[in-house]
Amino acid sequence: MKKYFVSVFLVISIFLFISCSEKNNTLSFTAMDTFMTIRSSGKNCVNANKAAQARVEKIENLISVTKESSEIYRLNHKLTESFELSDETFYLMKYALDGAYKSNGAFNPALYPVTKEWGFTTKQYQVPDENRINEILKLTDYTKIQLQETEHKINCSYGMMFDFGAIGKGYAGDQIIEVLKENGIQSAILDLGGNIQLLGKKTDGSEWKIGLKNPFGGDVPVALSVSDCAVITSGGYERYFTGNDGKQYIHIFDGRTGKPVENNVVSATIVTSKGIYGDYLSTTTFILGKDGAVELWKKSGDFDFIMMFDDYSICYTKGLEGKISIFGAFSKIQVIE
Ligand code: AMP
Ligand code: MG
Repeated sequence: MKKYFVSVFLVISIFLFISCSEKNNTLSFTAMDTFMTIRSSGKNCVNANKAAQARVEKIENLISVTKESSEIYRLNHKLTESFELSDETFYLMKYALDGAYKSNGAFNPALYPVTKEWGFTTKQYQVPDENRINEILKLTDYTKIQLQETEHKINCSYGMMFDFGAIGKGYAGDQIIEVLKENGIQSAILDLGGNIQLLGKKTDGSEWKIGLKNPFGGDVPVALSVSDCAVITSGGYERYFTGNDGKQYIHIFDGRTGKPVENNVVSATIVTSKGIYGDYLSTTTFILGKDGAVELWKKSGDFDFIMMFDDYSICYTKGLEGKISIFGAFSKIQVIE
């Protein structure tokens, strides 16, 4: 009889252990103008996801360009030359300015007066004339911005305005992963409006299978088997308007010209360890095009990329071999070595 009870106890314990350790929770919410989903597995997944959502909302309250109480809104509407930033906003400003220098201004967090003029902030789209663009471009000179490390102050002239739209979601993803880890989570997948970030592997120990969006519409053209990394995509198809001239103008700008990017790239996907880096690179490689992306890839050696072009061709870097599956009927597939 005693043996019987021991066996029953063991079976119940094993059942409880399995059901606790394999608990999953999926939380979806809208933040930073993006529909976000966090799916995590582990004992504490419900609380972990809630804490992660709270973390994202805190970031949004710092860097939103539209919330009047945000730090970036107040910076963008300041009347003084000097403005004190919180540790977190200072870190993002430093990161973004560094990106501007590294890309010779193709990427530029101070581009907001330009994107605003084109109507991307209000959806009242317009194509400004050349003189107006050149006039506003003068407000985006990132080399005139000074950061005071000790006091966390930024000095810049009146009229300069900032937007972390190109790195914010990647940064938020990194912070979500940190919060999940602090809550004991070892396996999670985040979808932040098409930015995918992965913590660990799937609970069965296998790699995650990530499908990339088809920029031309239709089925998934490319899938990746990856874990513990960020898969971040920039695409012109995400937001654009059609001008009176019949041309399509996308939301990704070339900081050097003050105009929406017009090249043959339709999407740029970065695979790397950190979301903020992937987000910076997805926007920057989109602007620079294939040659610029290859140059960056050869120089840095710490990311891989996939680029799709308007002639239905695709290229990807050799680090993705063995991880990438191509289903789309591309006109050409090139592996960059
Ligand atoms: P992403 O989707 O990550 O490529 O980011 C695009 C967003 O970044 C846009 O909606 C703008 O808010 C902002 N942006 C556009 N062009 C640039 C640029 N050249 N440098 C920095 N941010 C930009
Ligand atoms: Mg980006």
